[in-house]
Amino acid sequence: MSGVGNLLELACNGGKPVRETILPYGRQWLDEADIDAVVHVLRSAWLTTGPKVEEFEREFARLTGAGQAVALNSGTAALHAAVFAAGIGPGDEVILPPLTFAASANAVLYLGGRPVFADCLPDTLLLDPAQVERSITPRTKAVIAVDYAGQPCDYDALQFLANRYGVKLIADACHSLGGSYQGRQVGSLAELNAFSFHPVKTITTGEGGLVTAADGELAEKMRAFRNHGITTDFRQRSEAGSWLYEMVTLGFNYRLSDIACALGLSQLSRLPAMLARRREIAALYNEAFSANPAVTPLTQRPDRESGWHLYVVRLNTERLRVPRSLVFTALRAENIGVNVHYLPVYRHPYYQNLGYSNSLCPVAEAAYEEMLTLPLFPAMTDQDVNDVVRALEKVCAAYEK
Ligand SMILES: *Cc1c(COP(=O)(O)O)cnc(C)c1O
Repeated sequence: MSGVGNLLELACNGGKPVRETILPYGRQWLDEADIDAVVHVLRSAWLTTGPKVEEFEREFARLTGAGQAVALNSGTAALHAAVFAAGIGPGDEVILPPLTFAASANAVLYLGGRPVFADCLPDTLLLDPAQVERSITPRTKAVIAVDYAGQPCDYDALQFLANRYGVKLIADACHSLGGSYQGRQVGSLAELNAFSFHPVKTITTGEGGLVTAADGELAEKMRAFRNHGITTDFRQRSEAGSWLYEMVTLGFNYRLSDIACALGLSQLSRLPAMLARRREIAALYNEAFSANPAVTPLTQRPDRESGWHLYVVRLNTERLRVPRSLVFTALRAENIGVNVHYLPVYRHPYYQNLGYSNSLCPVAEAAYEEMLTLPLFPAMTDQDVNDVVRALEKVCAAYEK
């Protein structure tokens, strides 16, 4: 086999892969300052629920323009707390899109509510306000808007509906930290805004999450919720010299540690640099794919800045001889860690067993068949980006009709 032939041959057919090691779709970016911040807490008096929690919350609220921030130990806990604070209970309906991590919908189930799936817009894959309005019933109590891939939803349209029908608007902003909508920061766009600090997300605390809210009462409700439903924390009691605590609602242990919050604070200080690099990589992809008719990136609306959590493309499968699944397999063989976000939530076996139909949202269904998430994280080099572009070109050329 000639050298050139070897390079054109797909790695899944025995050819040489575009790169030697796998490039993941997302990964944390830590530096020495992050490590020092954690070590500093390990040498201090407070490992959990100490000064770092408040400091992290205050800084997060300041950066996002939100009044209040409540740290929790995962994005899932953050969503659970937000849906709790919104007052969702048994029989209440909550409208959300199907193209999201299952946790967005599970948070509704935890409280006995019923997730109602409304379809997305085909070009952005963001929740379609017209579909939300069609899904509203007298039992609707809230809407969860998911800022898919990092681009904020149309919050003006969604807030208009929320006001008109008297329902709460919750943002699942797990993808969109650092993004903005009409000049307003993500974190201050909905009544309750949930974030995740899992290592693939924009900033990390290992595991972690947070909810921002303008309303102090909602924040207090979530502070009790993350601490068993108890109205004071251990540090407050120890400072007040008091032993008495009162549990007023059924809560959980969803506390985020001082160790994690110190890492979060340190990461937050680099948020502008992380976002800048994510934007730079997205721009490189946009430029490269403008010349590849086999792929279409998601549309970015001019009135928004994405947080660029994910770079998602749709394959123009009518130009290809194979379905998305084989393009995916071929790219993995080239050592490109592509992913798919997401299987529509109602198609998971658990939701099917709850009686959801498996073809509820045709726009999301069609997108699901064509979507690929390409690697995007700030520690990627330009060479890494180039590897992804070349691998996608190689695979598309091999599978062209
Ligand atoms: C990551 C994520 C979550 C859950 O966050 P965890 O921190 O992993 O619990 C929820 N919703 C969306 C959209 C996410 O991407």
